[in-house]
Amino acid sequence: MKSPLRLVSELIPLSRGESTGRELYELIKELFPICRSITGEGLRSTLRILQKHIPLTLEEIPTGTPAFDWTVPKEWNIRDAYIKNSSGERIVDFQKSNLCVLNYSIPVNRKISLDELRAHLFTLPEQPEAIPYRTSYYREAWGFCLPHRLLESLAPGEYQVQIDSTLAAGHLSYGELLLPGESDEEILISAHACHPSLANDNLSGVAVAAFLARSLADVHRRYSYRFLFLPGTIGSIVWLSRNQQSASRISHGLVLACLGDSGSLSYKKSRRGDAEVDRVAVHVLKHLGSQNVRDFSPYGYDERQYCSPGFNLSVGCLSRTPHGQFPEYHTSEDNLDFVRPDALADSCACVLSILAALEENQTYRNRNPMCEPQLGRRGLYRQLGGMRDAGQLEMAMLWLLNLSDETHSVIDIAERSNLPFDCLRTAAATLRENGLLEAVVPRTMKSDVSLDSIAGNRR
Ligand code: ZN
Repeated sequence: MKSPLRLVSELIPLSRGESTGRELYELIKELFPICRSITGEGLRSTLRILQKHIPLTLEEIPTGTPAFDWTVPKEWNIRDAYIKNSSGERIVDFQKSNLCVLNYSIPVNRKISLDELRAHLFTLPEQPEAIPYRTSYYREAWGFCLPHRLLESLAPGEYQVQIDSTLAAGHLSYGELLLPGESDEEILISAHACHPSLANDNLSGVAVAAFLARSLADVHRRYSYRFLFLPGTIGSIVWLSRNQQSASRISHGLVLACLGDSGSLSYKKSRRGDAEVDRVAVHVLKHLGSQNVRDFSPYGYDERQYCSPGFNLSVGCLSRTPHGQFPEYHTSEDNLDFVRPDALADSCACVLSILAALEENQTYRNRNPMCEPQLGRRGLYRQLGGMRDAGQLEMAMLWLLNLSDETHSVIDIAERSNLPFDCLRTAAATLRENGLLEAVVPRTMKSDVSLDSIAGNRR
């Protein structure tokens, strides 16, 4: 007989293992050297590498395609770039770091004086050893990014500058994967995949999203899951413009970014601020020891598009240290030494905890509402006796029985009782098994699915 599918919650302890961190780190290491941008071969080959791990569909949207107020730009590709000094030495070399070219630079090949060159150079005087990451997607320009220390050492004279790039009609690529669940309602997981060699901003989110897509493929899913690997901003705008019908099915969503640094977890709420995903994420973070919660602001990652007023989706953003708040952000110091396998695994476990709570958040009915049921008679006290956190589980059962009057969901009860969702989940399962609690099928769910039916399948 086919064994029953695992629940999302059962993935949480598994994801904390050392092997998760190692696997995520290896994927980041493989993707790190690629020069990505919002279009081009770097983005495309990144998505193809992800296809080795998950059955991602690659979409190619032609240059010039309108997307709301935007247009798919020309495709950018680059093969080489350098600045040579008068001795012919490459003092700035794309082959050593792809950050050294202003991303989306138009081609150039000329001799130029240092004074003229300066207008095309970008440095970080306050971090003189780091190469900044700069882009010019929507204004044709060329330039180089270099350590400020190097700029200061440049002697006056002539320099040979070469950028062997093309900016021409082509396509914008993105990757998409839908894992159907029992309901048509979707949970969106979105990661931007457009940054060149930056490990935390970009690749950590990509790796965690890919890991989740693989892990969720073979568990029981109440919700359908949609994974998007997109170039930032233009990618989500293009996707939304082509998928308004699908977007209307997104009930909850998370943008994943900056999940590999050693900082603590943080959550940026959706524009709604009180969406179920906001409440669940705040609850999960609190019980993981983080109070880093920010309100929505229209600056950041693709949650800006998902939360634009025309869509107003319940999509928040999960990070460790938020973008712009760590000195390595958008510099060559956001590298493979900056991200940590244990932080990546911890981030995965956090996302899975949020997803598991969304999966299992529902409203119950106490089948014995006239005074407390006699738990001891049913062996529930004895069953709890040997367990380390028996007190907490017992409290969870009492809270569930008291508040399960068809008007409180498990997340309502978790907030009011200050008990972790995990504990309430275990207690609810015990009460269901003992016939004391039954699920009220939520009106919003399109298919007739409840946790009781799932539990029934598993017996
Ligand atoms: Zn960024």
